[in-house]
Amino acid sequence: MKIDENVQKLIEGNKRFAASKPIHPNQTTERRVEVSKGQKPFAVILGCSDSRIPPEIIFDQGLGDLFIIRVAGNIVDDIALGSIEYAVDHLGVQLVVVLGHGKCGAVSATVQGGEAHGHINCIVKAIAPAVEKAKKQSGDLIDNSIKANVELVVDQIVSSKPILSELVKEAKLKIAGAYYNIENGVVELI
Ligand SMILES: [Zn+2]
Repeated sequence: MKIDENVQKLIEGNKRFAASKPIHPNQTTERRVEVSKGQKPFAVILGCSDSRIPPEIIFDQGLGDLFIIRVAGNIVDDIALGSIEYAVDHLGVQLVVVLGHGKCGAVSATVQGGEAHGHINCIVKAIAPAVEKAKKQSGDLIDNSIKANVELVVDQIVSSKPILSELVKEAKLKIAGAYYNIENGVVELI
């Protein structure tokens, strides 16, 4: 199935990156000219704004490959959902990956608690349910919160009406959760 091939493409690209053997595909002048006529990305990545997690680098992809939404804590709001809907509905993307990562500052701040200044508080509020969920689990609270946050965001996308939930039901769209290990560079599906 095409969706599984695209998951595999990401996993293989990440393996190259983590093994320090990137091939930097689709970064030539020819590719730039080709995609200037139109884009056909094969995956949406909803990742964290963290400067250490650039999707094209960690998945070893190039121009026109990934449709990326980055926001601190890899969370969704209506604007992010609209961006995903655009990629799915207009560009034909069938795979969305929610990518959390180790040592996420947004999740760590939420675990620490207290009032965050300004608009940062909106991010903390959005992540808080994941921390509550993780408090019931054994193990490292921050790491469990990062993974719980990915799972909750996947659920939000899966149940997003009217476009995404329908496509997921029809098996035309897959929403996957993933975790990036910031030390060894390896992405694992969760
Ligand atoms: Zn982060």
